[in-house]
Amino acid sequence: MGDFDGNMTDAQAGDFDYIIVGAGAAGSVLAERLSSDPDTRVLLLEEGRGAGGHWASRVPQAQPWLLRDPTRVYGYHVEPGPRGPAERWLRGRMPGGSSAVGAMLWLRGGEADWTHMARVTGSADWDWPEMARVLRLIEHHAFGARALRRAGPLRPLMQAVLRAGAESGWRLRADFNEADPEGLGPATWMIDDKGRRVTAWTAFVRAAKSRPNLRIETGVRVDRVLIDEGRAYGVEGRRGTAQLVFRCRGEVILCTGAVITPKILMLSGVGDGMALRRAGIETKHHSPNIGRGLRDHLVLATNWRLRHWRDSDNRAYTGARLWMTVARYLLSGAGPLGQGGAELVGFIASGKTAERPDLMVTAAAHSLEVAPGIGGLEPEPGMRLTAHVLRPESSGYVFAAGPDPDTPPRIEANYLASERDRLRAILALRKLRGLAQRPALAEFIEGETVISAWARSDDDILDLYRRYSRSAFNAVGSCAMGPDELDPLDARLRLRGVARLRVCDASIFPEMPAGGTLAPVMAAALRAAEFILSDAGRHDEEAPAAEAESQPESDAAEAELDRAQRDDALEAPTEAGAAPPAAKSAAG
Ligand SMILES: Cc1cc2nc3c(=O)[nH]c(=O)nc-3n(C[C@H](O)[C@H](O)[C@H](O)COP(=O)(O)OP(=O)(O)OC[C@H]3O[C@@H](n4cnc5c(N)ncnc54)[C@H](O)[C@@H]3O)c2cc1C
Repeated sequence: MGDFDGNMTDAQAGDFDYIIVGAGAAGSVLAERLSSDPDTRVLLLEEGRGAGGHWASRVPQAQPWLLRDPTRVYGYHVEPGPRGPAERWLRGRMPGGSSAVGAMLWLRGGEADWTHMARVTGSADWDWPEMARVLRLIEHHAFGARALRRAGPLRPLMQAVLRAGAESGWRLRADFNEADPEGLGPATWMIDDKGRRVTAWTAFVRAAKSRPNLRIETGVRVDRVLIDEGRAYGVEGRRGTAQLVFRCRGEVILCTGAVITPKILMLSGVGDGMALRRAGIETKHHSPNIGRGLRDHLVLATNWRLRHWRDSDNRAYTGARLWMTVARYLLSGAGPLGQGGAELVGFIASGKTAERPDLMVTAAAHSLEVAPGIGGLEPEPGMRLTAHVLRPESSGYVFAAGPDPDTPPRIEANYLASERDRLRAILALRKLRGLAQRPALAEFIEGETVISAWARSDDDILDLYRRYSRSAFNAVGSCAMGPDELDPLDARLRLRGVARLRVCDASIFPEMPAGGTLAPVMAAALRAAEFILSDAGRHDEEAPAAEAESQPESDAAEAELDRAQRDDALEAPTEAGAAPPAAKSAAG
């Protein structure tokens, strides 16, 4: 591994059955699964370096070190839009991808969420029985077969938050990884018994990397999929200044995440014809919804001043306490350094009419200063309560901005464009305030800090979102699967119109899985491996027909009209600022 000198010999070229691009949450699972058959040759390409992993990716709360390091993390500029914040979307740029830099919350999504996913994709392959099965396989693979995985008992402050939840009428949960996650309870973390972060890479690739049939190349940025006569036959990229080509006889599987996968497809000539022309890229296959349908969770974090230092971790990393914190972690794997991003999670309904929980809340015993980028800890005792709307309706887009792979993608998140999302976002803050003001927390909490306390009216609260909310880094949907011919992928994750090409990463979900996206992405990768292995040898017969290619853009007047309308939306963003998805039949 990693011994590649920039040039492949003829014997190596063309010898792979599968090329997996991106060794993140999805790519790591796929690499392990697809290489489990010793007769299958798999190439895993990853732009990040350091296959052994960075020390900070093993220590859970060393996360801020990583997030400030541009060699380990991508930071994509996101257009602020009328209601959203100006921000950068962070993504892991290293083996393990975002699972190596994220907040480690393991949230499956509930039965109702996966039932709905099956409905919108038109396929029982994504229904709860199948997804619960693969989620269990992953959990047992990565963590061992225990039902509950977390470090130590809850501290008094968090026990009080649970009591406050009960006083608010919320159910209390011992484990979210059940069919129905509604309620408030301890978060489950991707952290092992020794207090080390478990990444998709450490859980899956580490055990597989000595397999002779798995070749792993890090430090390789893939720029394009090579396509000839409607079939993918390899990828092109570079390491440093060396241009590289990797060929395969089977399938290329893009696992580069919801931002970069649509960019690579567009650079390969696959995407909306008009958007490609604008970017100066020749169209090879017109697939109008690539890059559209982008959704993300927009999180509002509120800080609460605590009465006592004993309840807050805010000074755990200063002065002599830093050494105590480090020593405690080294001795037991516990304490502030050994925790996930939040200690409690809640899935709650915004109102009586909500069919399923439509808000997620979290609680943590620290509070961050408001600052550009990653803020430091507040110098006073504080805690943090966050909330976000689940399954937001508002969607944006991500497009390649030009033919040069070095040009950053153009991203419009288009948060809170929908009235429904705005109403729920307002209710989310009111729910947090209701929780913090319950009697159970009176002896702990002094009050809400000025950052959010001023926002009383609905308009103030929306203004607060515009100033201080931020992405949960959960973006999905930019290369979504679905039953319609205009959906980029079919339900087996094959790209419509290009044979031997699949996508498997966060971009595939037509709606946001409730909660986090890490567990759903890893589960989807396990499903994808099952599809790929069962389709093996039938690439061409099974590939979905290239209808869109055989029907040029100019053929259909309706399609032209759609495009013109979309174009207007691109030229002069509406209040929503979004490029709406190209017309498609309602999927559910
Ligand atoms: C800071 C942060 C916190 C998060 N916290 C949580 C959480 O607590 N719980 C949760 O459920 N979810 C969380 N998420 C979201 C979750 O981690 C992602 O949804 C998930 O990792 C997405 O998986 P993926 O495979 O699509 O992409 P990634 O895991 O990001 O993997 C993509 C991989 O592709 C590589 N790559 C990119 N471009 C190229 C290229 N051109 N060539 C080659 N390789 C390339 C990257 O280096 C990376 O390894 C968090 C994300 C972030 C960024």
